[in-house]
This record gives sequence, structure tokens and C-alpha cells, in this order.
Amino acid sequence: MFAPLPDKPDHPALELELLDLWEQESTFEQLRASNRGGPIWSFVDGPVTANKALAVHTAWGRTLKDVFQRYKALRGFDQRFQNGFDCQGLWIEVGVERALGLNSKREIEEYGLEEFARQCRQVVVKSSSELTRGCIRLGQWMDWGNDYFTFSDTNIEYIWRFLKHVHSRGWLYLGHRSTEWCPRCGTSLSQHELTQAGVFQEKIDPSLYVRLPLLDRDHEFLVVWTTTPWTLPANVAAAVKPDAEYARRENGEWVLASLYANDTFVERRLGSELVGWRYRGPFDDLAPGASVDHVVIPWDEVSVDEGTGVVHIAPGCGPEDFELARVHGLPTLTPVDEAGRFYDEYGWLHGLTTTEAADQIVGQLGETGFLVSAGTYEHRYPHCWRCDTPLIWRLSDDWFISVEELRPTLLAANGTVEWVPAYMGKRMDDWLRNMGDWNISRRRYYGLPLPFYPCTCGHLNVVGSKTELEERANEGFEQLEELRRPWIDRVPIRCEQCGEPVTRIPEVGDVWLDAGIVPFSTLGWQNPERIEEGYATGASHGLSHADLPDNAYWEQWFPADWVSEMREQIRLWFYSQLFMSVALIGEAPFRRVLGYEKMLDEQGREMHGSWGNMIDAEDAFVRMGADVMRWQFCAQPPNQNLLFGFGPAHEIRRKLLTYWHSVKFLVDYANIEGFEPSWLTFGEIPDPKPLDRWLIERTNLLVAEATDAYEATLTVNAIRAFEAFIDDLSNWYIRRSRRRFYSLDEAAFRSLWFAIVQSLRVVAPMLPFLADHLWRNLVQDGPASVHLAPWPDVVEPDRALLAEIAEVRRVVELGRQARSASQLKLRQPLRRLVVAGASESAHGHSAEIADELRVKDVEFGEVEASELRVKPNLPVLGPKLGRALPEVRAALADGRFEELEGGRFQVNGHVLEPEEVLVERVGLEGWAVAVEDGVTVALDTRLDDELRLEARLFDLIRAVQLLRKESGLEITDRIRLWIPDEDLLRFGDRIAEETLAVSVETDDELRLERA
Ligand SMILES: [Zn+2]
Ligand SMILES: [Zn+2]
Repeated sequence: MFAPLPDKPDHPALELELLDLWEQESTFEQLRASNRGGPIWSFVDGPVTANKALAVHTAWGRTLKDVFQRYKALRGFDQRFQNGFDCQGLWIEVGVERALGLNSKREIEEYGLEEFARQCRQVVVKSSSELTRGCIRLGQWMDWGNDYFTFSDTNIEYIWRFLKHVHSRGWLYLGHRSTEWCPRCGTSLSQHELTQAGVFQEKIDPSLYVRLPLLDRDHEFLVVWTTTPWTLPANVAAAVKPDAEYARRENGEWVLASLYANDTFVERRLGSELVGWRYRGPFDDLAPGASVDHVVIPWDEVSVDEGTGVVHIAPGCGPEDFELARVHGLPTLTPVDEAGRFYDEYGWLHGLTTTEAADQIVGQLGETGFLVSAGTYEHRYPHCWRCDTPLIWRLSDDWFISVEELRPTLLAANGTVEWVPAYMGKRMDDWLRNMGDWNISRRRYYGLPLPFYPCTCGHLNVVGSKTELEERANEGFEQLEELRRPWIDRVPIRCEQCGEPVTRIPEVGDVWLDAGIVPFSTLGWQNPERIEEGYATGASHGLSHADLPDNAYWEQWFPADWVSEMREQIRLWFYSQLFMSVALIGEAPFRRVLGYEKMLDEQGREMHGSWGNMIDAEDAFVRMGADVMRWQFCAQPPNQNLLFGFGPAHEIRRKLLTYWHSVKFLVDYANIEGFEPSWLTFGEIPDPKPLDRWLIERTNLLVAEATDAYEATLTVNAIRAFEAFIDDLSNWYIRRSRRRFYSLDEAAFRSLWFAIVQSLRVVAPMLPFLADHLWRNLVQDGPASVHLAPWPDVVEPDRALLAEIAEVRRVVELGRQARSASQLKLRQPLRRLVVAGASESAHGHSAEIADELRVKDVEFGEVEASELRVKPNLPVLGPKLGRALPEVRAALADGRFEELEGGRFQVNGHVLEPEEVLVERVGLEGWAVAVEDGVTVALDTRLDDELRLEARLFDLIRAVQLLRKESGLEITDRIRLWIPDEDLLRFGDRIAEETLAVSVETDDELRLERA
């Protein structure tokens, strides 16, 4: 006996039940054990930042990872299943700052760096356990407890080793340049951090036109335009385009002539003639400005589309300005400090932020006569990805890894990677071709301590391991609570060049170093021997049991066969991994990548906590269930944004319900008729009918399509295959075979059981809960879980047979469309159906077609039941024909046209192209017609008395069936029946058979009772 199924599944309830069962039965451990020693499939998990509970965005990626790990496990592959957490950097720090109410670096230092570090660790502890709980609820199978944490000493040491290597190759340098800077976080950011979502936002800034008096030309001025007033006190030069024409207005103002075509000018000169002119700076009353000789310089990049054609240059406040200063030997002024506040030497501006200073600067320019006009300007402007503060540009000393020498190898390595979708690989190529040097230093606290110890003798000491640090330490090694600030800052070492004591630079590393090293640090690269719980070091102590494997293990598991993350990781994790791997060993750390686009809400908007459209993962588990979420993730083509929400979830539940009802149909009738299948004879169908043979082939097709989809890492194709199968199973096989289940027809029962069980096996990686729930009911003497049954054999299906039935279904579908166009209900029998254009294979199925469409006769042949109606497509044809239009239109309406090849028409001497006309085929009087892809189906809709009587019969049977249901009868209960329609008594036997009636008599109204 199968356990009876309710009318619809309670997804959350059955999921919680299975989580318990898997736990009790150690299902996952059994699966892993059975694959041990099998072929290897290496997956490396991109670490999830441990600063929050599971979000639906994260659940998407986690689902895809789980699906393919489960699939490979079912195919017998040995896998590591190691989960990773990202534990350092601004994400963590800024959260702790907020929680503690701190809002600057000064306040953090006053709070105390030891305690700050411990608070950061607490965030990781709490959030890693929340994330684990959420992922388990989602159904993700991982080796929980053996996670890697990027803040472990082990991970840090591996990055140190990488940096030492980079230094030995001469790629590490201290750069002095203008970089994007967050004044709130007090640190520079790197190019790739600016590529993250949400960085560029619309911002309204002041727009100023300022005139600068020329020193050697009386009453003449340069006019410049700026949207960053705070940079004006750092002005040192004005740039012009040498080959462009500049012109002077009567009032003495020089501007680019082409930008002011309507103005009158009194003098014109080429930009090159302006070069070398000297001018008075806008803030020469302040000491820094007064010290500078302001001069006009040439620059080919000056915009001729915007501004005035004269560009204000402040080398301390912009990357291009800085580069120009280098070329022309200009001085650089840095007006603001790390927190973005003016330095003391800027007099009345000192202590102001760049925003606060803007108003005062505008006021001052007005008073001194420098201001021409002031307005506002809206543009896309970069903001800090973590704290949302508008960024500024600032001169700073940062540590860089130079990419020039590595670039060709990076590109070659990326060429060995198979990207899905392929365009993402091209994006990576573009990035690799265009990216600048990697800025790896951040002026923060809770991050990888950069092991750089520059000495006054000129030597840069780079420490490559904890052991090396211990050997070279002068003091403080014993107080290292973690390999991190502030403790590490108390360990000075001896310079290897001159022996003098040297201290570490205060900077920490870019977080993408932490995640990028993972293919080396977690797999034991160059580690001489395995260290038990070797990953539970430093801050990870007590959080993980992960071992640190040895190099032989790395040889075995590197490179990863597959990695998968969101598209933005091209410039982040995919990039940092690739970079570090190429720098260390010259090859790519992964063979294959699945990238996917963004998640938006179901209306296509970004999800934001403050917009109220954010969906909490916990809420989704309760309201839709994990399987429905997983279906939504899996059904998404990776090259499009996912519109996630409860609306789509409802639609998925509806599809699953159709499937559920098919399974319930099998369960109900198997229990009634005593069908008890055995796993030992699974797939054996005695004496199958043609429809059974078709179902077996249809199931083989599902297995083949799903297998191809998983192999291509495209779950969307697996979901589509399953959806089509659900439709064929429910709306063809069961529909056409229903009666065979009213008795113990072995072939029918076994075929249906086979089809359902096989489908459970192929959807198990995507819908692990529902699949196992039904498996455990339907397969009682086989493997205890669908996840312990091996992957089904892929059998090449009989495609000719499948195409034949697909054609039949197409004809039936068109027939339904025709019926619905005729407004005749399906219970009304019809005399005749004519099918034209269907392939020969459908001809043998006229009985089924007749039955499905309730027609008495199906003919294959030409149809003279419809006519072509052609109308002008006015927006296109009107302009073409002009005054000839009315007569063409009239001719078309009268049918006075000739159909030409290629969908063209000849009318009144004009040839009309397909896009110039609107064509429809309509049924002639008495016919309903549907046409698609060359197949035409025409229904003869004329009724006679006999047909009308039969319709009454079908209406009656339907009414009895409804009444049976309403009366609470079991499907096997026999009844006594009274009907109000005397004419129908002559169909008594038919009525009795259909409604399980033992007697049929007449009465005033329809009624029944249990016999
Ligand atoms: Zn910030
Ligand atoms: Zn030295």
C-alpha cells in the first residue's frame, strides 16, 4: 500500500520532516561514503560574507551549487563539499561600527582595537551559524562544520606567501597617485570595488563657471567649469585643447569657440597659442595656492562637448590631473585629509568637509569677482559600496601589484576556461585587457595584515609566514591573539638587509585577497603534511574542524572543475582567484564557470530593505517552501535577471500541483486495485499497449534531456524538460488511459509508476524534498532515499514515435483552439474534423483525435473551410501608397487579390510585402478553423438533433459526477441514480457504466444514493 496523498502538498511541512529524516538516517553521509574512491569532481565554494542571515539572493547561488553537487554525487563522483565564509574587511567593520554607534576611525581607535577586533569576530560567529541554519533549511548539502573561514591564520599565511612571491618577482610597489577615496571609511578603494552594484548613483552637485584673470593680458580671463568646488583651492593649471579654436568675448573671457557658436568674439586663437599663459589662481589668498605658478597647459583630452573647453586642473584631486602633473612637472596640492576635511594651511576652510566647503567657496568666489555663474548639475557619481558616502579623489600612497607582465598569461589562462554563458568569458577578457594595477592596501583595521616592513635603509622586508615572523621578531610574538591588528602591530622585526628594527605598515589588505587565495589555502598547496584541524587557527579557532591538507591533496583537487557566482564576481572573486593563481603557478584555478545575472523583485525593481520589497529567506521558506524557491532559481536562464517573488512562486506551485495530482492518481488507484510494484522489476512492463510504449519513450526523453541540461550546467533546461513532461504525463497519458486504472491493468500501472519514479530521480537535485518525499512512498523496497539511488540509465528514446505523438497532440491542441473559437463547449459532440498539413505520422491516430475532440469523424485532406482575409497595415502601407490606398483597401476587402510566394500579395498592380499587410484565416459559415505552422484544423460546427441529444448525455454524466463528489462518495462506491431527462434513458447502460450506477430511473430532479 502507498500512503494516501492529500489534495495538495504542504511543502514547508514535508520539507521539515525530510530534514529530520536525512539527519536521522545520515543520508548525506551515506551518499558521500558510497562515492568515496570514485572519480573526482572538484568544486570550490566562493565564500559568503559572514555578516548577515541567509538572504534570498544568496539562496539562489547556494541552490545552484547544491544542484550540481547533488547531481555529480548521484553520478558517483567523489566531492569535498566544503563551505566557505568570508570574514574580514569593510562589510564586517562597518556593521560593527554601526552597532557600536561609532562613526569615524578616531572613534574606533578610542574604543580600542582589541575589543573592536573581538566584536568583528563575534559578528562572524553569529552570522556563520545563521547562514548555516538557513542553507540547511534550503536543502543544501555541505560538509557543515568543516567550513573554511578566511580570517584563519592559515588563510592569512597563504596570502603572505603569495605576497612574498609577488615581491620576489618585482611586481609589488608603493604607488603615489590619485585614487577613489571614501572619506567616511578613511580609505582608498580599488578599481574593481567600483564595479559593484549600487556604486554609481545619481547625484546633484554644484555647477560653477569661474573666471581666472590672466596675468600678462590686461582684463582677459580664462573661464573654467567645475562640479567639485572643493578642488578649486588645489588648482595649479588650466588645460586647453591645442588644435581647437578658442575665442575672446568682448568682456575679455576666453572660451572654446565651437561651444558658443552664437556668441560674438573679438579675437580667435588656436589652443596651442594659449599654452604657457599665466593666470591668478582662484584661491591665491590661501598659502598653498599662493605658492603655485598657475599656467595654461595643453591636453588632447579636453572635452569639446561640455564645459567651456578650458579645464581646471587639481592634481591632488583627480587621476587625470595627477597624470598631467607628472607629465608637465606641476606641483600637487592635497587639500583634504583621510577623513575628507581641509588641512590647517587652508586657512578659513580648515576642518570643513568637501561638501561643507562648497557653499563657502561659492560665496567667496562671488565676493572676489571670480564667479561667472552658479547652478546645479545632476550626474552619475560613485559612492562607497559599503557606506554610501560619495567618493572623492585624493592623493595617497597605496600598495599595488603591477599587472602588465601578468596580463598576457591572465588572458591565456582565461582562454582555457569554459564560461557559461559564454559572453561572461568575454567580459572577463575585456576586464583583463583594461584593468589597471591592483591596489591591495586599505587603511582599516579588521583585515588581512599586509606583511610589509619597509626599512629606512631602503629595503622592503616582506614576511612570508608565521614561522618567519617568529624567527625575525624582536619582541611581542607571544602576545599574538590573532595574526591581525592590533596584536601584529606590536611585533617589530629585524631588517634582513641592515639588522635594524622595522615595524609593519599599518595597512590591511583588500578583501579579495582573502577569497582569491582559497584554491590554494584550502587544498594544502605546498603544505608538506596534512594538519588535523589545520584550518581552525587564529580567529577560526573553535569555529571549524577543517583540516589543512597536504600538497598531494592539492594536486588531486586543483584546479576546480566548476565554480559559480553572480556576474559581478567577474571583476571580484573570479578575477582575484584567477590573478592569484596565475601569479603563483601560471594557470587558471577553475575549468568551468557558471555565472548568472542579478536578482530583482517580481516587478523588476532592485530589492531594498527601505522599499519594503525585500524578501526575507525565512519568510520565503514559510510561505513558499524551499522546493518552490529552488524551482524559481533553477528555472532562471543565467543570462537574464531573475524576477523573484511570491507571484512566480504561486505559478510554480500550480505546476507542481498538476504533477502532484498525477502521482495522487497513481497512489489512489493502486491502493484501490491492489497494485504493489517492486523495485526488483522496475522498468519491466508486461504486454504494453502503444500508449504505454509511448510513455516509456517519453520518460526516456525526460531522462536524456535532464542529463544534458545538468551536464551543460543549465538548470533552466532541466526545468523546461520537466514541465513538458508534466504536461504530457497528465494531459496525455493519464487523460487517455484513465479507464485502464479502474481495474488492475498491470501494464498501465507499471508504466505510470515507472514514469513517475524516473521523473523523481531526475528532479531530485533541484527539488530534493518533494522528490524524496514521493520516492519514499512509491519505492518501498528500493534505496531508502531518492538521493541514494544512482542516476537513471540514459536510454536513447524512440524519437520517431515521440514526434508522431507530438504531432497528434498538436492537432488536438489546434482542434481545441478551433472549438474554443466556435464557442461550442467541449461536451457538445460534433460531426466532422478536417486536418490539413499534418505529417503522415498523425494519420494513424484519427480515433484518438476524434475521442479527444469529441467528433465522430476525422479526415485528413485539403480544407475548403476557411478564407484568407487581408487588410492593409496602415502605418506602413499608408505612406507607401499615398492616394492609391483607398482603392487597394477596397480591393483587399472584396477579396480581389492574388497570393504570391513568401507571404506577398498582388493587388491592383501593387505588390504588397508581408509586413505591409495583416493576414488572418477565418472559418467559413459552419466551420471553426485554427492554423499554426502549416497545419490547419477545421471543425464542422453544424449541429443536428442527435448531436444535441448526445451533448445532453455528456452534461448529465458530468452533473452526476459532481453530485457524487458533493455527496462525499468514495470513487469506488456504487450508486442508485434518478435522472430528470426521459430522452436519455435509452443511454442507460452508458450512464450506468460512467457513473458506477446499479440502476438508472427517472424522477423530477437529479438525485442519487449509495447502493
Ligand atoms: Zn565608506
Ligand atoms: Zn634595513
